[in-house]
Amino acid sequence: MDALCQLIESYISTGANPLTDDLALHGIQECAPVLVAAYEKPGRVELREPLAFAALLSGIALTNAGLGAVHGFAAPLGAHFPIPHGVICAALLPPVISTNFAALRAQQVDHPGLLRYAAIGKVIADDANLTPTQAIARLHSFTADLLRQLHIGQDANANNRRRHRQFLHRRLELRR
Ligand SMILES: [Zn+2]
Repeated sequence: MDALCQLIESYISTGANPLTDDLALHGIQECAPVLVAAYEKPGRVELREPLAFAALLSGIALTNAGLGAVHGFAAPLGAHFPIPHGVICAALLPPVISTNFAALRAQQVDHPGLLRYAAIGKVIADDANLTPTQAIARLHSFTADLLRQLHIGQDANANNRRRHRQFLHRRLELRR
């Protein structure tokens, strides 16, 4: 999920360029179709190869293009709470996409940023004929569905809540 977020944010970044665009879209094309299968079938090592390649591409893309609001929030959240980086990124991705979409649309109904989100949606849907609105909707539903399919954010059971409280308590004690 971290790789997917990094690819999407690199492509949406104002620092993107034609090289990082190609790397990001190719990485998304590699990882999006196999993410759920790789999670559900951990024994199928061959499904991890496209994920590893996508992770490599995401690293090159983000180094040259930068990232966005998901990673802007992920750094401080990861520093203050014992939540894996990929979980934070996955959980923030759908609301950040919605917020960016609304902000871009408020600025200009055919804002170039919207077309970039749409390009990602077309890659994920593997359908170049989608309208921008359809493609963005596919991108949003894909990222939101991943949370449920990968069981992200659904493990807030008593043990985790206790672990988070203990972590925060230790941090607060360290500050005294
Ligand atoms: Zn990351």
